[in-house]
Amino acid sequence: MLSEDRLQAAKQRMLDQHLRARGITDERVLAAMERVPREEFVPAPLQVHAYDDRALPVEFGQTISQPYTVAFMAQAARLQGHERVLEIGTGTGYGAAVLSHLASEVCTIERWPGLFDSATPRLERLGFRNVVTKLGDGSLGWPEQAPFDAIIATAAAEQLPQAFREQIAEGGRLIIPIGEPGAGQTMFRFTRRNGELDEERLGLFSFVPLVCQP
Ligand code: SAH
Repeated sequence: MLSEDRLQAAKQRMLDQHLRARGITDERVLAAMERVPREEFVPAPLQVHAYDDRALPVEFGQTISQPYTVAFMAQAARLQGHERVLEIGTGTGYGAAVLSHLASEVCTIERWPGLFDSATPRLERLGFRNVVTKLGDGSLGWPEQAPFDAIIATAAAEQLPQAFREQIAEGGRLIIPIGEPGAGQTMFRFTRRNGELDEERLGLFSFVPLVCQP
């Protein structure tokens, strides 16, 4: 385990070199990235790498997303603080923790029971009270909690799931990587205006696949 000083230094490097220098300019997003202790979300042997700018392996062949990617998606969602957000793919809970500082409520869904079972108490222990977790297939969204002001999918879909179209509020933003598994995927932002989804392409990323039921 790194000393508190070295963790703080690594975190500062993440903020300056991996986030600000690469175009993360939303001060609320930067503050949220500063507040969340990423070392609490990575497997113990990898804690020395907690603030490296890379995805790290977690259980069940899944990953905790790279800090830049988490910040990029949060910034793309243009959150001001009053929003209800749906996150697909809780994983370790890190992304939900960052979003919890940026929105009023975060609903997050994970399909792997093992990940759900460790992320839920972790988020509770660390005091993230405005996060609600659910075990299930996130490609169906969360109809009972809809509509959402933002939906953020942290796993890549081959096409936009119908449920997300239906569950995004008017004016809401849907941030999702779309593309073939294995290859890089394009990050999309869909904004709902007058019932229609306006589409923007935000760049290339690489994600684990969103597993959809046949
Ligand atoms: N947000 C996470 C990163 C998650 S990686 C974090 O900060 O740690 C993507 C996650 O999506 C994985 O945990 C994977 O199990 C999950 N996932 C994939 N398909 C899913 C689906 N259909 N429903 C819910 N979760 C899914």
